[in-house]
Amino acid sequence: MHNRHQVLDHIYRNQGSSKQDIMRALNMSLPTITQNLRDLESDGLIRRGGFLKSTGGRKPQIYTFNNRAAIAIGVRMTARQIILCAVDLRGTCIKRATGRLPYRHAHAYYHRICQLIEQFIGSLGEDSEHVIGVAFCMQGIVSADGRSIAFGDILGNTGLSVDEFARELTVPCTFIHDSDASAMAELWMDPSISDALCIYLEPYMGGAVIIDGRLRQGGTMKNGTIEHMTLVPDGDDCYCGQKGCADVYCSARVLLEHRDETLDEFFNQVRDDEYAHRRIFGVYLDHLALAIKNMCTVLNCDVIVGGKAGQFFTTDDIADLRDRVLRISAFPDDDFTIRKSVCHPDQDVIGSALIYVREFMDSVCGAD
Ligand SMILES: [Zn+2]
Repeated sequence: MHNRHQVLDHIYRNQGSSKQDIMRALNMSLPTITQNLRDLESDGLIRRGGFLKSTGGRKPQIYTFNNRAAIAIGVRMTARQIILCAVDLRGTCIKRATGRLPYRHAHAYYHRICQLIEQFIGSLGEDSEHVIGVAFCMQGIVSADGRSIAFGDILGNTGLSVDEFARELTVPCTFIHDSDASAMAELWMDPSISDALCIYLEPYMGGAVIIDGRLRQGGTMKNGTIEHMTLVPDGDDCYCGQKGCADVYCSARVLLEHRDETLDEFFNQVRDDEYAHRRIFGVYLDHLALAIKNMCTVLNCDVIVGGKAGQFFTTDDIADLRDRVLRISAFPDDDFTIRKSVCHPDQDVIGSALIYVREFMDSVCGAD
């Protein structure tokens, strides 16, 4: 089994390997490699992909990883629409679809969602047989087993069970908190990340924790839920029922409060040095700096900032934010880094599908 994992892992990491390449890289005997290649090919995990140029004698056969041996589906239901992404084993979105459907915490709505998912899977053609799971990227806090919504105050869906979908869909399903999903994608797209605190400045902000190159959700799935860190004692009301939470001061929607404006327009005004917008942004960065300072007292590592608002941050904004953190830091000489998230389109939807992709890759290549 160990040899099989190693051979597959090598082919996955080095697209287009010959038996000789594998032999050299893994120090394995030719018969062992041949046997494993035969098994992996019959399991559909690898394919023959042409020949290398001959250096005399027979041309060496090239083996490539079958990126579509398994496909995972990511789903995001928002107040107004649904987004679906089919993701292959490279983490690439191979198909995307959206539908306008106002969210309702009602059986009829979830039934319609299941129909849309089945239609979407059907539209994948022969890949539809390889779908291994549907992961729902949720705005609420997910229960420890990923099977229900423990706190769903934004969409009013506390208590929603994954069974609502599982009993209609033909493949396994799970829930994942949206900021955890974004961090999952972060990690996939930049495997060099070791430890990081991720902050996603979405309309409703969220956070996630990466330790030792893995997303760490914690036993209760509440690691990194900085949106409810108390930033201003007795401050403004938060949707969680408490006062002064970070969500009230650092969410993307705060930048637009009371004005009929998009984030794009907001940041254009900031870049034009318009006084009122510049001021709102300054206050916003101060609040964000305080949240980051507090987070870093518990886990001192790199900070990654992303989300709908974070995607507009320039290098100067990130430097400005870092200065603001250092100004209020207990250890201002800290060698600490704030950087921008990959800010990939549909990052959270793709990231949720990656839960299944990661699990599949761990099972066929052996976990690290
Ligand atoms: Zn709160």
